[in-house]
Amino acid sequence: MTTTPSPVWHPFTQHGLGEPIPRIERASGARLYDAHGNSWIDAISSWWVTTHGHAHPRIMAAIRDQSEKLDQLIFAGWTHEPAESLAAELVRITPDPLTRVFFSDSGSTSVEVALKMALGYWYNIGEARSRILVLDHSYHGDTIGAMSVGERGVYNRAWQPLLFDVGTIPFPYEGQEQRALDALEAACAGKPAAFIVEPLILGAGGMLVYPAWVLAEMRSICARYGVLFIADEVMTGWGRTGTRFACDQAGVIPDIVCLSKGLTGGAIPLAVTLCIEPIFEAHLSDDRARLFYHSSSYTANPIACAAANANLAIWRDEPVQARIDTLAEIQDAHLAMLAAHPRVANPRRLGTIAALDVTAPDSGYLSGLTPRLTAFYRDRGILLRPLGNSIYVMPPYCTGAEELAQIWGAIAASIDTI
Ligand code: PMP
Repeated sequence: MTTTPSPVWHPFTQHGLGEPIPRIERASGARLYDAHGNSWIDAISSWWVTTHGHAHPRIMAAIRDQSEKLDQLIFAGWTHEPAESLAAELVRITPDPLTRVFFSDSGSTSVEVALKMALGYWYNIGEARSRILVLDHSYHGDTIGAMSVGERGVYNRAWQPLLFDVGTIPFPYEGQEQRALDALEAACAGKPAAFIVEPLILGAGGMLVYPAWVLAEMRSICARYGVLFIADEVMTGWGRTGTRFACDQAGVIPDIVCLSKGLTGGAIPLAVTLCIEPIFEAHLSDDRARLFYHSSSYTANPIACAAANANLAIWRDEPVQARIDTLAEIQDAHLAMLAAHPRVANPRRLGTIAALDVTAPDSGYLSGLTPRLTAFYRDRGILLRPLGNSIYVMPPYCTGAEELAQIWGAIAASIDTI
């Protein structure tokens, strides 16, 4: 393991703890390799992005090919084939009411775009609606707007004065679903602009799962009150929850959808925000003052779009769903073996994601257990990054039974020894 002094300031990393920072040279499938013959199983898909596996040959080839044709193009008033075919295909595979595709480059920016679209819609049709409703314990990214609609805590305390006020709906814990739905209904009666939600599972909030019928019910409450329904599928999209999109399981058609992470198979940054036609139409005019004022330099970068097109081709041509189903089954079997452990609570699985909580004297993001567990796994060739005392496994879909056995073996050992 290399720990070369470096000027790099890493995200979500406390440099003061002096923990080793492995330097990875290459990756393939579910594995990461350094230059010294060490390897790690990437059990969290490098922050939930890698779906089919690292360096999938078709995605790599698409990136190589596109880089020789067109590297970058201003996207304001200009276009290119990779973006056009990607947008058309995204509209084809998502429900019919979603007709428009706006590009950006990260999950956070796709959320910012979604919020701006929602407020732009109400503003342009002349209704004074600006309040956003959120689900308690949500995470939608780390830009100021995305933090505003996410859980408030130690990770955004310093910026609290900049965060805008939102309406928070309680999380629909088992047995308390109706309470959450009633709270949403009451809040919707106050004519907010939109409700943003992570469908079926709250990721960074601790892999908190709730049932499809609750998602469907939340959607119909919003529809009843004309509140725009934003599905943040940044983490849940591209098969993570067992179906291509989590909303599919609930038969839910959102007004706005955010996609990123697995959009390019996890190879290169790209995001999209899809929306229904009336939102686009509200900005459509011969008046330039009504255009949608959002852009970033790399909007719809052609190389990233080519990678996303390759991802969509993989979904079309390869048995992706079968890989997801197999992974889900194996995850289930391992989780079941640990479920009765006296230190394990709340074992849960949704699609390819399996999670459990370790009972510990302290919990939450700053649980003392977290760095010890992370180091334990790192020393055993596994990249896992528990969220507080919640351990979760969210590997690429190519991860084999043997690798999964190693991951779960390390988890079992960690619970017994730490
Ligand atoms: N929304 C959700 C649900 C997420 O899980 C994340 C990232 N973990 C984001 C948004 C932000 O994505 P990014 O890190 O690409 O900005």
